[in-house]
Amino acid sequence: MLEINKFNKIIVANWKLNGSFEFIESYFNFLESVKIKKDICGIICLPYVYLDKCNQLSHSFYTGAQDCSNFKNGAFTGDISAFMLKDVNCQFSLVGHSERRKFFNQTNEDIKLKIENLMNQDLNPILCIGETLEEKEKGATNDVLKKQIIECLPQNSSNNSVIIAYEPIWAIGTGQTPTLEEISNIHSFIKNDITKCENFKILYGGSVKSSNVGKIMSLDNIDGVLVGGASLDPLEFGKILTA
Ligand code: PEP
Repeated sequence: MLEINKFNKIIVANWKLNGSFEFIESYFNFLESVKIKKDICGIICLPYVYLDKCNQLSHSFYTGAQDCSNFKNGAFTGDISAFMLKDVNCQFSLVGHSERRKFFNQTNEDIKLKIENLMNQDLNPILCIGETLEEKEKGATNDVLKKQIIECLPQNSSNNSVIIAYEPIWAIGTGQTPTLEEISNIHSFIKNDITKCENFKILYGGSVKSSNVGKIMSLDNIDGVLVGGASLDPLEFGKILTA
């Protein structure tokens, strides 16, 4: 397992359900030429079938999956286990992304099992949490995030093994973002007021692009960003990595 604390900033790409062998070749052809600061940890989370290719083509980035099975092995057709991710030399996996929660009915209980499975294989989980617009408007954001964290994080998770990504659901893919003050307050709340999360690395995700990443990353309590749509354009992602 990688020691998360050694990194200053973490920048994660989430390709979602996109990519091809042709795309991955041209993507790394460009991105490997981008000069990234040594203390930045770049992680590319891509569909399972391209993990191995990512390891072959990328020298400056870690490889991440977008999910893993709740189960270790057995009659679970279509699943990919944490052991299999380790077997293809993957280092990270997203878990609990809001699209997995919404479209595949994943619960906090499922997500906790995934994190346990990943940690047992010495892989680093990136736990995604976030509130809906309705929850935000009701003033329930902090309660929602606290519940997700408490129910998803296993007892033995530490700030050196697990990364948390705060991704307001209403900001994902919409072009809308919370204000800088809102992001800062929520990150402080997670780091300071949730006992389990002391000194955890917390990333912000939701409509990050090259034009807003500089201000977001300059906030004191932001340890990096998780980038969806904008990570699919290598030029744009290159600007985000060097902002
Ligand atoms: C995401 O997929 O986690 C995400 C943050 O997407 P986008 O950057 O497109 O909002």
